[in-house]
Amino acid sequence: MPRHALAPVLFLLGSLALTGACSTGSSPADSAPSADNPSRTRGNGTGTQVDLSKLKGVNIVSDSSTDRSCPWATSYPDVPGAGAMTAAMKRDVEVRLAGFLGEDIGGPPSCGGADGSEGPELNVSFSFLVASGDVLGVRLTTVDRTSNADGIGTRTYWYDGAAKKYRPSPGLIADGSRDTFVSALKKGLEKREGVTPESVDAALGDREYRDSYLDDMAFTADGDLRVDFDRDTVGLPPAGRISVTLPRAIVTPWLSDFGSRAQAETTDPDDKLDLGGTRTPAPAVAAQPDPGEDTTDCSKAKCIALTFDDGPAAPETGTLLKNLAQYKARATFFVVGQNVATHPDIVRAEMKSGHEVANHSWNHPVLTNLTPAQIRSQLERTTTAIKDATGKEPTLFRPPYGAIDDEVKAATSLSPVLWDMDTLDWKTHDPAKVARTVISQAEPNDVVLIHDIHPTSVAAVPEILRTLTARGYHFVTVSHLRATL
Ligand code: ZN
Repeated sequence: MPRHALAPVLFLLGSLALTGACSTGSSPADSAPSADNPSRTRGNGTGTQVDLSKLKGVNIVSDSSTDRSCPWATSYPDVPGAGAMTAAMKRDVEVRLAGFLGEDIGGPPSCGGADGSEGPELNVSFSFLVASGDVLGVRLTTVDRTSNADGIGTRTYWYDGAAKKYRPSPGLIADGSRDTFVSALKKGLEKREGVTPESVDAALGDREYRDSYLDDMAFTADGDLRVDFDRDTVGLPPAGRISVTLPRAIVTPWLSDFGSRAQAETTDPDDKLDLGGTRTPAPAVAAQPDPGEDTTDCSKAKCIALTFDDGPAAPETGTLLKNLAQYKARATFFVVGQNVATHPDIVRAEMKSGHEVANHSWNHPVLTNLTPAQIRSQLERTTTAIKDATGKEPTLFRPPYGAIDDEVKAATSLSPVLWDMDTLDWKTHDPAKVARTVISQAEPNDVVLIHDIHPTSVAAVPEILRTLTARGYHFVTVSHLRATL
């Protein structure tokens, strides 16, 4: 569905000038405010950019299914020094996933037809808003297609490195100015289509509960404060998602001490980030030996292509590279763009170790749910991230969940790769089981699906390599397998 963005509307309310834009009928991925290239975060909804190289030691915590009837993927950053903020994101992601899977009500998952037909989707991705001085800001964007509304939920998380505290978004405003701030927001909202004074009051009228609706607040590059509301929170359709932007001059006197610092670090970012953390980031990956040319001829030798999806992840991918090197085994890594941007060093190490690096989309959506422009964006941004990390563009892609149709194929020149064997490692989390599955089902020229984001999957690999090497298998990349068959 195309996005219909309305031109910003200017409200003049007494002495307050509030600007805002709302979109109606937008599809989730259009509005999902996350976009990156390898070193910077762009399009995060507030017009700011973040240099990811400052975020030393950050790990992306990812999880996903491979089940097309129940497609879900979640990711959030674990930043050294900002443990309380990471814990808040973890909790929110777990609650959303449990709800999606029906675990919170002990019932069946909301996804997944009994006949295995394609189910609705849950996707949680992240973008950095600010990483400067002693301020860190992150936005999580959830696309939940089980929802009757547009299914997008966004939430911002703030970390105060000076106080070593997680600050929920309302903490940007000083306690004594909250009521004034909320009055200004209400005035900005009440003129919108689909919004009534009653619907706004239902959300923001109660001091005790209103903070839960103020869960997405961030500064623009100009220092204005933008407050985003999910659909159905302050109004009824067709209001859709609504944002209210309070100009800098209006909002600045209302900011808390932390809010002032967050505003300053957004408008004038420092090239340093110091969150006062005590955790020393370990190097994500050790140097790998040059493996030389692979001369295996798969038309004569017994070949198998191990493929590792959804990474890179630290420290799991580094451990895996060591294990593969020990057996002179090659593999193919289907990497997710948002993780490549965070760990370009690991992707470089994958390539240097003789493995193939391939494209698995930017943030793991069901590509068949997207428009051609969105599909292109998912794949092209990831290709750019891989090229920036390794100097080489990928030639292969794997659609998340194996969801592919003619529209997806037409949107890219990359060659699609599915799999012959799904280890279901994301479900079992059992190294012995994963190893047993691969060893018992392996046949020459198989493409095997494993995930290097799970320590349990990485732990299964030495046994797989040991046993199948003894049986005469050669571990090759997918492109090598295809080229020599
Ligand atoms: Zn995947």
